[in-house]
Amino acid sequence: MTKIAIDGPAGAGKSSISKKVAKALGYIYIDTGAMYRTVGLKAVKCGIDTKDSEGVASILPTLDIDIRHEGVEQHIFLDGENVSDKIRTPEISMAASNVSAIPAVRVALVDLQRKLAENHDVVMDGRDIGSFVLPDAEVKIFLTASVEARAQRRYKELLEKSETVDFDAVKEDMILRDKQDSTRAVSPLVVAEGATVIDTSALNFEESVNAVIEHIRSSVR
Ligand code: C5P
Repeated sequence: MTKIAIDGPAGAGKSSISKKVAKALGYIYIDTGAMYRTVGLKAVKCGIDTKDSEGVASILPTLDIDIRHEGVEQHIFLDGENVSDKIRTPEISMAASNVSAIPAVRVALVDLQRKLAENHDVVMDGRDIGSFVLPDAEVKIFLTASVEARAQRRYKELLEKSETVDFDAVKEDMILRDKQDSTRAVSPLVVAEGATVIDTSALNFEESVNAVIEHIRSSVR
């Protein structure tokens, strides 16, 4: 099985690029951020402070998360409900970042992620895929862009969903989330050993996809 690990900060285009790349290669796409978001959503629904390790850990034994694929599209279910759209709000982005710093949450989700990669060729995106989840991945990519470019993209995405958004708030949230993700004690966001950095600040979507595919094709023979 071939494993492609794509990591990077928020808004670097990881999900949309990885999805397109997986489709082009005929691989399965696994969005690990969606799993942390779903744990964040569950905690919020239960009225648990997402920074309270013990409170969040208490929901893990009965956590019912299901991942289903429809072509390259990943759908995520919480307690039987498809929450793929509900987890995309700014509130849940921050909740995901908070719960992702809790070791028990990471243990549970990494186990699930590794199982999903056992029987398929995968493109998996996240923060710690190349460094921790799939350290033996054949290709490791660190996808990044300037904070301005990333905030602009996320802002446009939210506007398209007709959410009321303020650009400065989106940018501030992104800076805070990057800081939390890069400085946490467990599996912080780092450029994994052996990873190739691809900066998409000056590239459009198609160019970014092509840069990633080219790199993969030249690495996997
Ligand atoms: O990728 P996405 O922005 O959807 O991820 C949401 C949050 O989940 C990130 O800010 C990060 O805190 C966490 N995450 C993580 N490890 C991963 C994927 C996501 O800690 N592999």
